[in-house]
Amino acid sequence: MLFGRGMGSARRHWRLSAKLLIVSSIVTVIGFSAICVNVMLDMRRGEEELARQTLENLASGIDADMSRNIELYDLSLRAVASNMVLPEIESVSKPIRHLILFDHAATAKHFGAIQVFDAKGRLTVDASTLDPPPEDRSGEEYFKVHREQSDAGLFISRPMLHRSAYAIVLSRRITAPDGRFLGVVAGSIRFSYFHDLFGRLNLGPGDIITVLRSDRTIIMRRPFDLDIIGTNLADRSPGWDPENLPSGGSYAGPGPVDSIPRLYVRRNGTSPLAIVVGKPLDSILNLWRREAVRIGAVMIALISFVLAVALFLAREIGRRAKAEDKLEELATTDALTGLRNRRKFDAVIDAEWRRAARQASPVALLMIDADHFKAYNDSFGHQAGDQVLVSIAICISDSVRRAGDCAARYGGEEFAVLLPGLAAMDALRVAETIRLKVEGSSDQHSISTVSIGVASLTPVPGMDWTGLVNAADKALYAAKASGRNQSVLASFPKLALVA
Ligand code: GH3
Ligand code: MG
Ligand code: MG
Repeated sequence: MLFGRGMGSARRHWRLSAKLLIVSSIVTVIGFSAICVNVMLDMRRGEEELARQTLENLASGIDADMSRNIELYDLSLRAVASNMVLPEIESVSKPIRHLILFDHAATAKHFGAIQVFDAKGRLTVDASTLDPPPEDRSGEEYFKVHREQSDAGLFISRPMLHRSAYAIVLSRRITAPDGRFLGVVAGSIRFSYFHDLFGRLNLGPGDIITVLRSDRTIIMRRPFDLDIIGTNLADRSPGWDPENLPSGGSYAGPGPVDSIPRLYVRRNGTSPLAIVVGKPLDSILNLWRREAVRIGAVMIALISFVLAVALFLAREIGRRAKAEDKLEELATTDALTGLRNRRKFDAVIDAEWRRAARQASPVALLMIDADHFKAYNDSFGHQAGDQVLVSIAICISDSVRRAGDCAARYGGEEFAVLLPGLAAMDALRVAETIRLKVEGSSDQHSISTVSIGVASLTPVPGMDWTGLVNAADKALYAAKASGRNQSVLASFPKLALVA
């Protein structure tokens, strides 16, 4: 092919389709990914919510048990505290006094025997024996608290070794009717109670339960660790303060004792103790994570597949577009000269004629015919003749360079050049350029020349392009008749449109 052309219309069309295909695949992939991510995040929120509810239920279950037991024990303490101030109590015998002061709740499992201390901290009555050995508790924190404050109510001590077992001591003040401090009634809840309570729960390995006093002292903790029990969280956790959690509130992050991130839920019971339960985020999100990885992998595989298919199809579309362009080019190109063929020329002149009619602009046509070509063929052979046709085609396409121009092999040794927008004189100038080029390119032994008929018309309604072709043909005959190797301008005596 001799002449480069712009991208074919088929190619443009296909390229658009390929782009659309890729863009729509990407949009689809993004859309599906967004939906997928959203669903996964919803699932994650669901898991967290479920864990939060489970922890809340766990906390309130523990709280219910603890509050009920503390309340029962406190009832016994209150009864002792109020009965101790009865004036008659001093006068009855020790066994009768025991019967009056202590009920059976005080002797329940995990609860220590209730003891009464006088205003100096000396043991006076012990539920477990009628003759208790002397004991002095005036140095204990709970004794001092009740001695100093008349309104301490039920006081829960820090965890301590009480009668050779770890326990918390619950105590109340014994106050005379005139407000005087008469002593303290105290009982204990052994740690075995908590071990028993926590042991009944179905807990995961990383789950924690913390029982806190209102001053944030850890009363009990699971997993059990004596180093932590009795410490105050206020000294331990500058970053995390479970007191800031409202009852039923939750917090996710590292905890006060270890750095494992957990979901914590707090519950303030009816007793003076609060419960904080925590579950490691890892175990909450374990199942979700596995699911997310599985779905993510499937999504990535699907996305890769869709994109690969889209790219493959786009490449195929590109190949097809190229092939189609090639075919179109072959179908519209003259094989010998590389100029447009007659079929294409007819289509172009039809379109340009109509455009010119719309725009009321002129269309010029050159009809070019090789001179004495039969004789040339006879002298030098058909193949040499073909070469001359090729060199004439080169001269033509060298002179016709505007975008809308169309140079075609009209048939045999005849060529046609369509010059949209050109007035007659301009077209004649182009014709002369071609003619001189052909003349100049031929060698001395075999001079080849062309004759050119030139016509330019501005279409008027009712006229078709065959009129233009006929006019140019006539001008060509005139050029032949006038001796060849010349350009002749068609005259339109009846039409005043000739330039
Ligand atoms: P004139 O100057 O009057 O045009 O003389 P001419 O010999 O060119 O006359 P005519 O148009 O009758 O002759 C056309 C000749 O062109 C006939 C044929 O031998 C030759 N011809 C047509 N097509 C081809 C072609 O494709 N290759 C070659 N080599 N010759 C061709
Ligand atoms: Mg001819
Ligand atoms: Mg000829």
